[in-house]
Amino acid sequence: MAGKLKTRVNSSGYKQFWDKDEERWVFTHRRVAEKKIGREPVPGEEVHHINGDKEDNRSRNLVVLKDSIHDRVHHDDPDACFRCGRSGHWAENCYAKTDFEGDAIDEDDDWDDEDWDDEDEDWDDEDEDDDDY
Ligand SMILES: [Zn+2]
Ligand SMILES: [Zn+2]
Repeated sequence: MAGKLKTRVNSSGYKQFWDKDEERWVFTHRRVAEKKIGREPVPGEEVHHINGDKEDNRSRNLVVLKDSIHDRVHHDDPDACFRCGRSGHWAENCYAKTDFEGDAIDEDDDWDDEDWDDEDEDWDDEDEDDDDY
């Protein structure tokens, strides 16, 4: 078992934990999302809390969105497709080749393989955030 993790909630209401190796505060939701998609979110991407609860960092509550789509979800249509940003369907059923702005969608993000069940049980219980790092 790893030692107790130092955590805090920053001024914007996001949970962070102290990464001992990197010696800096890391957003918990970003690290969980990183594990979920198998890579770090890149600039131009945002980690979105699907249920709107910034403290709910379970992997199934997090999705990595393009900035522009993230904006849409927050300001225009909370039910917009996470993949293309259009209204009226979910990402799982999305076959769009371009997003709502007309930009090509990167097919590396393979939503078909996305496991929407919680594949990482460690994150299921809020209070177990502490164990993993
Ligand atoms: Zn968001
Ligand atoms: Zn779509």
